[in-house]
Amino acid sequence: MARNRYDMDEVLEDSFDLNQLKRLAKYISPYKKKMVGIIFLMLSASALTMLIPIFFQRIMDYYIPGKNMKMIVTMGLMTLAVAAYSAVSLGLKIKTMSVIGQNIIHAIRNDIFCHLQELPFSYYDDRPHGKIQVRVVNYVNSISDLLSNGIVNTITDLCNLFFIIICMLYYDVRLTLLCLCGLPLLALVIVFIKKKQRRAWQVQSNKQSNLNAYIAESINGIWVTQSFVREEENTGIFNHLSRNYRQSWMRAVMFNFTMGPSVDMISAITTAFIYILGIRWILAPDTTLTVGVLIAFTAYISRFWAPINTLANFYNSLLTAISYLERIFETIDEPVNVKDAKDATIMPPIEGKVEFKDVSFSYEEGQKILNKINFTAQKGETYAIVGPTGAGKSTIVNLISRFYNVDSGQILIDGVDISKVTIRSLRTQMGVMMQDSFIFAGTIMDNIRYGNLSATDEQVVEAAKTVCAHDFISQMENGYYTEVNERGSRLSAGQRQLISFARALLADPKILILDEATSSIDTETETLLQKGLNRLLEDRTSFIIAHRLSTIKNADCIMYVDKGDILERGNHEELLAKKGEYYHLYMSQFDFLK
Ligand code: ADP
Repeated sequence: MARNRYDMDEVLEDSFDLNQLKRLAKYISPYKKKMVGIIFLMLSASALTMLIPIFFQRIMDYYIPGKNMKMIVTMGLMTLAVAAYSAVSLGLKIKTMSVIGQNIIHAIRNDIFCHLQELPFSYYDDRPHGKIQVRVVNYVNSISDLLSNGIVNTITDLCNLFFIIICMLYYDVRLTLLCLCGLPLLALVIVFIKKKQRRAWQVQSNKQSNLNAYIAESINGIWVTQSFVREEENTGIFNHLSRNYRQSWMRAVMFNFTMGPSVDMISAITTAFIYILGIRWILAPDTTLTVGVLIAFTAYISRFWAPINTLANFYNSLLTAISYLERIFETIDEPVNVKDAKDATIMPPIEGKVEFKDVSFSYEEGQKILNKINFTAQKGETYAIVGPTGAGKSTIVNLISRFYNVDSGQILIDGVDISKVTIRSLRTQMGVMMQDSFIFAGTIMDNIRYGNLSATDEQVVEAAKTVCAHDFISQMENGYYTEVNERGSRLSAGQRQLISFARALLADPKILILDEATSSIDTETETLLQKGLNRLLEDRTSFIIAHRLSTIKNADCIMYVDKGDILERGNHEELLAKKGEYYHLYMSQFDFLK
């Protein structure tokens, strides 16, 4: 998927790719034996039900005229026994297949989710998150019907058809051939609507995806929506997307509905012909056809069209499922381009030297963001990166954690190229605090412990004390056990940042990255925090992006970055003396504060 938005449809594939089903077969294969068992059970039930018209024919032609009550009762009881066997088999099938269907769905959803966990940031940069969610939840659910009922029903229905044709041929070859004449007509209908129907389902899945993307975006942006009083406009957009979805759904379903009535029509026409011809043949002088045979035969005809109807429905859900499977497997196949090299080694315990050697980077081809960046931060040094918005500051720190691959050049930690080591061994030794301090739903204790899952409660409290978070946490109603909701909306921005500081401290990383992490803290908290922060920075190499220059005055080196280049570097005094870009930036803040 190229860059995409809620108001943009994804590109539709034109081919009817049966490979999607082959891939689905891999998920089904662990349940092969159970499914074969169920198919046999259903076949035995359907073979037995084939006998019922024969019982009726015997009753009509022999036992009623011969007044053989014993046989009539026996046949009645046998019919009952067959019906009971069918009912039990059907119940067993529904139960087993529902469980198997849900297991398969669970496995597919698990695969997508695991893959999503590995996909690089660039994947998430390129598409609305709602569109990703719809694949994991809705599309996967939508194939459940195909899995729970479709496959077994289709196989049993095909066999049923075979049995029925045999029984019909046994009774009357001419009437059977007449009945089969309806099939080419049905094939014509299928060929006519197949392509349109498939396309309609693809469009429907696109519209569903757009709608979901917009809902997700609106929920995430509700704060902005309400503060800018954009509710009406948003509702308008939502209605438009929802209308599109409804229309696409109606159109797709209309094609589905064409199938059922077509089958019914063809069935009614052939049955009518069979009655007309059958009755004429019964009335002919030298006929072998009896009333009982005609009744048995028409009973088979009604059974003949039922499986064809189910097969047609299966075909519908197959087309729908294929359009969903395309999207599901597309996600699973999305290449993980930030991944461990084949011969990747484990990053040895990091000492802390970080080197950028001629590092160039672009998010999108041809749009260079960093241009041959060079610098070396020694173990334990604090490097501050300043510069205007969009200069490339966050990009530099994102590359240190290898959230993206560099286009050219090398990033070395303790002399080891980070592209040659496993991502896990690299990132577990680093602490990154993004601009938006993410809080998970759970207790504050759990949120801090996220930095080191094996930390004791005492260690968590100790970390919170170090970064001055302890006081405000203790004042909350349940202290460290206060439940916070996702994104931590019960906490102030400053409090969220303090929690993420404690989390980072607990992880005890050798390299620490703070991306504008101190920007939302008030002056009072900042003074407190500065103390904690100094402790946090001890013995670690750290990179700080801060707009408040007061936070970084003590940094060993300050790099002024603009348009992907380092324009100035040095410590605070050196840069002030230089009277260049940093000096002006500092002075502008100083003026502002005056
Ligand atoms: P800073 O942190 O200095 O404000 P960034 O490093 O975030 O700047 O961004 C540098 C440039 O890269 C900006 O022009 C920004 O628009 C662009 N950019 C940032 N993130 C992405 C992304 N995920 N995809 C495409 N371009 C991006």
